[in-house]
Amino acid sequence: MSYKVAVLAGDGIGPEVTAEAVKVLKATGVSFEFEDALVGGIAYDEKGHPLPPETLDLCKKADAVLLGAVGGPKWDKVQPASMRPEVGALLPLRSELNLYANVRPAKTLKPLLQASPLKGANGMIDLVVMRELTGGIYFGQPRERRDNGTTAVDTCIYSKHEVERIAKQAFTIARQRRREIVSVDKANVLETSRLWREVVTEMAEQNKDVKVTHMLIDNAAMQLVRNPQQFDVMLTENMFGDILSDEASMITGSLGLLPSASLSDPKDGKLFGLYEPIHGSAPDIAGQQRANPLAAILSVAMMLQYTFEDLDNAGRIERAVEAVLEDGLRTADIFEKGTKLVSTREMGDAIVTKLN
Ligand code: NAD
Repeated sequence: MSYKVAVLAGDGIGPEVTAEAVKVLKATGVSFEFEDALVGGIAYDEKGHPLPPETLDLCKKADAVLLGAVGGPKWDKVQPASMRPEVGALLPLRSELNLYANVRPAKTLKPLLQASPLKGANGMIDLVVMRELTGGIYFGQPRERRDNGTTAVDTCIYSKHEVERIAKQAFTIARQRRREIVSVDKANVLETSRLWREVVTEMAEQNKDVKVTHMLIDNAAMQLVRNPQQFDVMLTENMFGDILSDEASMITGSLGLLPSASLSDPKDGKLFGLYEPIHGSAPDIAGQQRANPLAAILSVAMMLQYTFEDLDNAGRIERAVEAVLEDGLRTADIFEKGTKLVSTREMGDAIVTKLN
């Protein structure tokens, strides 16, 4: 049996980095069926919509989706704004595929430790931020209001069901790691946070093999800089997760190397997800073989881990990435004196060689 992966390369450097990620997946020896589809600006140009129906259909039929990046100056002024790649493709992809759990690992790559703004061992982190992605204050109804031009309102809503489903995924992911969850909220002030804490506490009772603690968001933001090694899985709502995931990724010192997953409910027994680098389409370097493909390559390692539960091959890819960096190979964005400058393709090839 082979796994079906929909490949949405998108715009800018998207096609260059996804090509290397697909090459690496093939090199694992696992049987995959890849099918390409248009998304983003290129889809708007060729099909008149940044998320054509056939692309969405393909994603729905696939076991997992690999996304490059979308957008670029060419489409920044497209009217109506709802047809711009980021709005017209990314947001509907998340809602149509019900991708409610955003998983962003922040793991320091040893050879790049000196790039962390935290000194010494504190910069060496390995944690995951699990952010609820489709609820909370970003989606409250009414969306937002402004009265008389002088008062503004945003509404934060969470249901028990929304908290339960992401917490359930956090337990699954914690079991693949060090089995510790810190649930982050603002339960001393917000009612939605008190509900969040109640639900997570209830679930902790039923999942005693995972250690669960609670932390207020202000303390969590501080602890993440003071002692980030205390964290394994940080589980939190949409807005707190937005902020914490950026803070955590910066600690690794290499924002451009970070992968992500957006997960939905299991499908045919497998966790369905969309996997993508956290960077954008980098139009300034597109088409020049200067892009760093490591975030895309680490995204397919996440795909193997979460959707296909193939921790062996996921680990093989991660080790190959570290080994290639250990050998001193660098794309232009992380190049420094004494290292060897390589192209996007050469970086992908070097990882494939390590896998063989
Ligand atoms: P960006 O991440 O594309 O680029 C920021 C800077 O980082 C640029 O200098 C770029 O050259 C560099 N960079 C990014 N990824 C790199 C890589 N893999 N290797 C080497 N250098 C890399 O962010 P931006 O410039 O703010 O956005 C450019 C376009 O991408 C915009 O249209 C934006 O809307 C879109 N975008 C898309 C996504 C997505 O598809 N998920 C995410 C963010 C931004």
